Amino acid sequence: MCFAQGSDECSFQNKQISQIPGKNSITKLPQNLADFEPVTFNIYFWGFRLEDNTGNVAFTQENIEAAVERLNTLYNQCNISFNLIGHNVILSNEFYHLEGRHRFREMVAAMRAEGNLRTDAFNVYVSNEYSGFAGIALDYYGTILGISSINLISSGTLEHEVGHCFNLLHTNETNNTLNCESVVRDPNSQYFNADLTGDFVADTAAGYKFEPEEIDATTCTLNSSKKDCYGFTYKVPSSFLRNYMTISVPECSKDQLTNGQFIRIRNAIELDPFDHFQNARID
Ligand SMILES: [Zn+2]
Repeated sequence: MCFAQGSDECSFQNKQISQIPGKNSITKLPQNLADFEPVTFNIYFWGFRLEDNTGNVAFTQENIEAAVERLNTLYNQCNISFNLIGHNVILSNEFYHLEGRHRFREMVAAMRAEGNLRTDAFNVYVSNEYSGFAGIALDYYGTILGISSINLISSGTLEHEVGHCFNLLHTNETNNTLNCESVVRDPNSQYFNADLTGDFVADTAAGYKFEPEEIDATTCTLNSSKKDCYGFTYKVPSSFLRNYMTISVPECSKDQLTNGQFIRIRNAIELDPFDHFQNARID
């Protein structure tokens, strides 16, 4: 997963795609979220139960509908809607509990072979339990993702993984000495590089991989005097720690994406290099 306890990175096959120069051009797209044309995607849920048809009790129509509602509340802000077209239960002791993210890929391959994967929809696979992660997106620019059963009910993970599908990166895990996002937000400054580094979104603050003890979980603020590669002290508003794509602590519940992230999402849908989004659209 992405913002929970324990081992928690997301993994992707096509990570490099999001870093190809020019792939993030937004010059042809509106800058006002309200000006984007409405787009609706089908979404379909697959839930794994044990072969005696027990377990994964959270995988219910009611909880699935509530999860889609959460997605719509968030993504409607950039005129994206999700249309639930159904769900199906798969009896499988093998995929009921996935130990490690590589098992997710093996599961997807098996589902593809068995016809349990729709090209006309986003596919959300829900195992009862994952070990070492809470959710996963198969690829950037993709429509295949997974969450563990508890995250059908808990908000945050599904929204986060859909963000990855739409080419959003973590806001605070891409900084390193070769790709160092400056704290500076003045585009006229020689130190400004927010559009070309980090998560490639200028209106998310520069961040880094926080240690849990650096975050005050009651106020969701960062207690740190750490500096970026250029010597500027990180300035992280609490909204940054509540961004769906920030890896922080579970206590800081997520409630937002920025305009810049929404524009990057719409850019990804426009680019759609594999036609996955086009295939999943209903309008
Ligand atoms: Zn993630």
